[in-house]
Amino acid sequence: MSDSILAVSGLHVSYGRIAAVRDVSFEVPEGGLVTLVGANGAGKTSVLSAIAGLLRPKSGTITYRGRPITRWSAHRRVGEGIVLVPEGRQVFATLTVAENLQLGGWRAKGRTSATIKEMYDLFPVLAERRKLPAGSLSGGEQQMLAIARAMVSRPRVVLMDEPSMGLAPLMVDEVYGVIEQIRARGVTVVLIEQNARRALRIADTGYVLETGEIAHSGLAAELLEDSRVVSAYLGGE
Ligand code: ATP
Repeated sequence: MSDSILAVSGLHVSYGRIAAVRDVSFEVPEGGLVTLVGANGAGKTSVLSAIAGLLRPKSGTITYRGRPITRWSAHRRVGEGIVLVPEGRQVFATLTVAENLQLGGWRAKGRTSATIKEMYDLFPVLAERRKLPAGSLSGGEQQMLAIARAMVSRPRVVLMDEPSMGLAPLMVDEVYGVIEQIRARGVTVVLIEQNARRALRIADTGYVLETGEIAHSGLAAELLEDSRVVSAYLGGE
């Protein structure tokens, strides 16, 4: 597909003898929202880490804007517009909200203060708390801060690792509202989630990972109706 901003092809990731990801391929259209869902340990974080450059795949190719980036450092990927919002927030707890946001701008070539202002408009709660240590924020607010910090680098692609993890349902709604707003700004989103129903509701396309392999894929709306996916991942709720 020529309109893909990102393509993963034949990705294999191993930890020693453990094959965590096997022959995973997918494409992400520019401005799209693609989700990878699956159980704990299915390999989702490994795929995202390989895209971010945090681990070296055993084999496979990652292509970004038509160029193979598999050998690029994580730094270079951030500079070129691929940014990760890691699982568990990972904000700098003793630094203030404002300082955390400034750190997001380390590659942003002089436009940081304007972008931070935009982020305060998008996340009023962060503006209110800008002088407080990030560690004093609630879990949901820290998730907002982690997303806002990633946005300060003016990414083209945001990789989100389990943004709903550990949040109360109302906070999950807020975080998902923010993801939709980011997408509305034209930023491409790759979202990984155990909360499959939630992720599939906002995604265009979805991939279901099972023990390191893609077991099902398709339009997110169709996966939500697929009886195999429903029985394995969407029960309850
Ligand atoms: P989670 O929801 O827990 O993040 P996941 O779907 O993202 O799960 P991964 O974290 O990618 O899955 O893990 C895939 C497999 O690789 C699991 O079997 C896991 O135990 C194993 N694994 C992940 N990281 C390591 C590591 N650093 N060393 C050894 N094995 C690992």
